[in-house]
Amino acid sequence: MKKMITCNECKGDCCTGMALEIPRPRTKEDYADIRWYLFHERTHVYIDRDGDWIAEMDLPCRHRDPDTGRCAVYASRPPVCRKARHADCERNFDDARARFKTVEEYDRWLRKRSRKPAFRKN
Ligand code: SF4
Ligand code: SF4
Repeated sequence: MKKMITCNECKGDCCTGMALEIPRPRTKEDYADIRWYLFHERTHVYIDRDGDWIAEMDLPCRHRDPDTGRCAVYASRPPVCRKARHADCERNFDDARARFKTVEEYDRWLRKRSRKPAFRKN
């Protein structure tokens, strides 16, 4: 079994980007709109194990020291940062059912999905 990395051993990887839940697509138009996220540089989309859709932007926090990975405002860091735990961090567990880094990857996934009957109803 792979050894878990702890926050002390990691260089603040969770401070190198933002992840925001986006509306779960339901219609053909919604699915088409997901491509728009992927048109943007340094933006990926993934579907987590609960089926939630997440947009990830590789935009480092201004308070992360790029050399050490340490937080310059650690004592007053916001609640979202305080909740980060190595035990449920994606550095240790890949939470993604599907991950799209490019429009091409997403289109391939859509083509595969479109062959499934449940998807055709959308
Ligand atoms: S929560 Fe994960 S990414 Fe963030 S510092 Fe800890 S191990 Fe690194
Ligand atoms: S405020 Fe600190 S802990 Fe929060 S994302 Fe920025 S560098 Fe990381």
